[in-house]
Amino acid sequence: MKILFTSSECVPFCKTGGLADVVGALSPVLAAKGNDVRVMMPLYSAIPQEYVNQMTHEIDFEIDLGWRRQYCGIEKLEMNGVIYYFVDNKYYFGRSYIYGMGGDEHERFGFFDRAVLNALPLVGFQPDIIHANDWQCGMIPALLRIQYGHVSFYNSIRTVFTIHNLQYQGIFGIQDVQDILGIGDGYFTDDKLECFGCANFMKAGLVYSDEITTVSPSYAEEIQTAYYGERMDGLLRARRASLCGVLNGIDVEEYDPAHDPLIAAHYTVDDLEGKKECKRALQEELGLERRADAPIIAIISRLSNQKGLDLVDRVIAEIMEEDVQLVVLGMGDAKYVNLFSWAEQQYNGRVAARFKMDPELAHRIYAGADIFLMPSQFEPCGLSQMISLRYGTLPVVRETGGLRDTVLSYNETTGAGNGFSFFNYNAHDMLYVIRRALFFYHQQPEVWRVLQRRAMTGDYSWSHSAEMYLSLYRDMLPKHPKAEKEPQA
Ligand code: ADP
Repeated sequence: MKILFTSSECVPFCKTGGLADVVGALSPVLAAKGNDVRVMMPLYSAIPQEYVNQMTHEIDFEIDLGWRRQYCGIEKLEMNGVIYYFVDNKYYFGRSYIYGMGGDEHERFGFFDRAVLNALPLVGFQPDIIHANDWQCGMIPALLRIQYGHVSFYNSIRTVFTIHNLQYQGIFGIQDVQDILGIGDGYFTDDKLECFGCANFMKAGLVYSDEITTVSPSYAEEIQTAYYGERMDGLLRARRASLCGVLNGIDVEEYDPAHDPLIAAHYTVDDLEGKKECKRALQEELGLERRADAPIIAIISRLSNQKGLDLVDRVIAEIMEEDVQLVVLGMGDAKYVNLFSWAEQQYNGRVAARFKMDPELAHRIYAGADIFLMPSQFEPCGLSQMISLRYGTLPVVRETGGLRDTVLSYNETTGAGNGFSFFNYNAHDMLYVIRRALFFYHQQPEVWRVLQRRAMTGDYSWSHSAEMYLSLYRDMLPKHPKAEKEPQA
């Protein structure tokens, strides 16, 4: 099969969140299974020079955006069996940020979506499937159907649209979007592109794609309800026959405590001695008291409301009354930066907070911590809890979305479980479960070991999910009439 992924980010080139991990990890897995897989993303100035140096110039052409005519270059790089195309326009992507600050996001990603479709015949790639991701690519399925459907090159292409986070929808003024993409008034009705008086890129993807997926089975159910639906629940209920949840995986080679070159000592499920060394090294690196017996609770996260940090805010004093240490790595809202900066001063030697993007430190924290706290308000899939499971750092999570699908709370009766969880979005429920985890950590280390074993031996690879995507793609292709049977001799 010929598959084109389109995404606004992809590791190792550019990452702000889980989307980049997913596209970056899934595409080589699908390629390794014998498919022709290509990825298209913007050529941001943030992409490291080492990759830019490996790119070759494929083609360039011009794109009409309303009254503007813009340069579009396509640069190409091959890696791990995948061809990556980078859409080059310095005005749109040569900026010091990836998202958000210029007030012209509709134009930047409208340009990108148009560029993807226009580039395909020019680079000579006619995909069977375009797999578009999140709102930045939402106009691709819509433009394909509205403006390109009559061209034979395009009319056999099927589209999959994946929701990685329904909260971010790409909402803009209708006239602004019309101005850029030249879509007629007739399409801005509430069954198509209009949404509460605005144009909505996410809705465009949801209405016009052939199939919709999201990144965990539980989130696929949740977003059909008003609480989680972000005003799209009605549409998603209407399209539920074409909606499914496919759980993300992680790169199990990158996140492997037995071989990870970034951590202080290696360890395996059968020999956890190295984890003690990782903890000691982490305490030293972050200026924490060197205590093997004090459990480290870690948070590695975007510092946003989504991640349930207001619950931590509410009970941080009670958490710190326990004999624990707290490590936070994240960037985001000032109120949480203030909270954890305050905590670092208040609990000197027991709390360490770092406000930066530091993937290497993240590895050291996953390896050195004992408990990983992730009390999200909603969580489409979540990768961090899977990474922490793999490092034997037991997660304490709220039962929502992908957290529900990957973490099973310890059940004292049956012995089942690989972590701890709570259901209500309530700070004291979270506190209770943190205390419950601490009880087993201190009082029943043999139970802790069993949970760690189960956590570390779980399958978090892409192999199962990649098969699910392939079977979804296969079902979308036009069915060929069965070849007539040879007459029997
Ligand atoms: P989301 O996509 O909602 O941000 P996920 O859990 O799906 O959350 O993915 C987050 C990824 O980003 C994980 O791999 C996590 O380790 C990483 N991450 C988050 N914040 C940081 C940070 N400040 N430094 C390094 N890695 C981070």
